[in-house]
Amino acid sequence: MSAITLYNRPSPTFDAKVAASIALLKQVATDHPALTQASSLGAEDMVVTHLISLAGVDTGIFVLDTGKLHAETLALIAKIERRYNRSVEVYRPKAEATIKFVKQHGEDAMFQSVDLRKQCCDIRKMEPLARALAGKGGWITGLRREQSGARADVPDVVLEPGRVKVNPLADWTWGDVWHFIATHALDYNELHDQFMPSIGCAPCTRAIAVGEDFRAGRWWWEDTTKECGLHVQALPENTNQGQPA
Ligand code: SF4
Repeated sequence: MSAITLYNRPSPTFDAKVAASIALLKQVATDHPALTQASSLGAEDMVVTHLISLAGVDTGIFVLDTGKLHAETLALIAKIERRYNRSVEVYRPKAEATIKFVKQHGEDAMFQSVDLRKQCCDIRKMEPLARALAGKGGWITGLRREQSGARADVPDVVLEPGRVKVNPLADWTWGDVWHFIATHALDYNELHDQFMPSIGCAPCTRAIAVGEDFRAGRWWWEDTTKECGLHVQALPENTNQGQPA
């Protein structure tokens, strides 16, 4: 069964939410130049990319290619570039860092301990994220309050050191996301049709069962907050740990 069939359930205030999200993007783009969208290529981020297009605001868009993403995820980059006639910036981890880490701890280091899993996320996500955000006035995400308890207080706008973080879908439901995808015939990750609502790196993502938490399929072997750090801490001001790969 397709994700659209399963999840397309708009909330009563859906139209107002869409209008508010577009208005928010326009306002933030006016107040903060050099905005960029951080896209995980998940369902929410495909919605945000389309909202940015509808808002007509000038932003960049980047993807963190950890080297561990599913082929189905990476296939969306070309689709975005074709549909919106724009380039997607792709940031990858530093080769020497990943080679050294794998040599020391193996390809399955993330399963050995929480500390090694976090080291892997630092190398493959956090360091490239710092490069992607260097010099940017702000970033746009697809975070929603409904996604998990850890995200229940996600605000629409956060002032971080040196930049603003914008969450235009903060009050959207999962049903809203899929109604928007269906209404605008957006491309989406085929893995969403296989009971993977939240998709990250291939080794660290599994399908969820009926009734399981939205992010239960992420780092499922851990009893943690199901976060990799991207949305947990603010990056230092004027972070510049290297050049885009
Ligand atoms: S999600 Fe898994 S594979 Fe991806 S960077 Fe984190 S630990 Fe490594």
